[in-house]
Amino acid sequence: MSLENKTVVITGAAMGIGRAAAISCAEAGGRTVLADIDETRLKETFGEIHAAGGESSCQVVDVSDARQVEDLMAGAVEDFGRIDALINCAGILEGAYVPVDELDETVWQRVMDVNLKGSFLTCKYVAPVMKKQKKGVIVLLSSGAGVRGGSSSVAYGTSKGAVHGQAVVLESQLASFGIRVHAVCPGGIATPMKLRNIAQAAESRGDSVEEALKQAEEYLGDPEGVGRILAFLVSDHADHLRQTVFTR
Ligand code: NAD
Repeated sequence: MSLENKTVVITGAAMGIGRAAAISCAEAGGRTVLADIDETRLKETFGEIHAAGGESSCQVVDVSDARQVEDLMAGAVEDFGRIDALINCAGILEGAYVPVDELDETVWQRVMDVNLKGSFLTCKYVAPVMKKQKKGVIVLLSSGAGVRGGSSSVAYGTSKGAVHGQAVVLESQLASFGIRVHAVCPGGIATPMKLRNIAQAAESRGDSVEEALKQAEEYLGDPEGVGRILAFLVSDHADHLRQTVFTR
């Protein structure tokens, strides 16, 4: 599998699944355009890829801000001439273990802005580039939460169900332009987001956080496993794949 001569924009690249995806894409020979709101950790991912000889650029971006997302895509085209793939991993999980009748509207809105609007904006600004190329792959990070089952957060689960819907709608809208769209639903993966969520769950039950995190090591998947799947998905080897991909 090779991503030689391909430019892949990865949001949420500072940590967790996005970071793993960026490293996998770079290892496959792809040029990576890294974006995240966390500048310090974004630079760490960039530094690691650069040190290994990968061609990369990085930009601090809030995916819920239209202008910043537009600039991100314009910058990628300016630097590398094209965008072959987008992997939108930026996301937040807030409002966990809060009953719907106690959930603050501002928390709901923040989750929607980052997870759902961010997903919309990245598609909105990458689509014209890919349409012009008559080729591209868009991968949106959804979740089993809100698609197959429940979630600890009403806002998070709802946003991820909506991202799944967005991918299904865009798949048919963009197929005739040679653009493949997938939603990816990872299982429980040991990232800062998931580990924080497990700690909160233990706290809310009055259990030991340390013990819960230790147990989680046995059942959580590793971000690198999902990162490899994401790199494969944006490669030409995945040309025959369609629709939603669930991982362990
Ligand atoms: P994470 O918290 O470890 O990483 C998320 C990244 O997104 C961070 O680097 C963060 O700084 C960045 N980010 C947050 N808000 C942003 C914004 N406004 N603009 C730009 N970047 C922003 O989370 P993760 O577990 O790696 O999750 C990655 C994606 O996978 C998310 O969309 C998440 O919902 C999804 N997911 C994760 C799991 C899991 O078990 N970890 C399961 C299903 C789905």
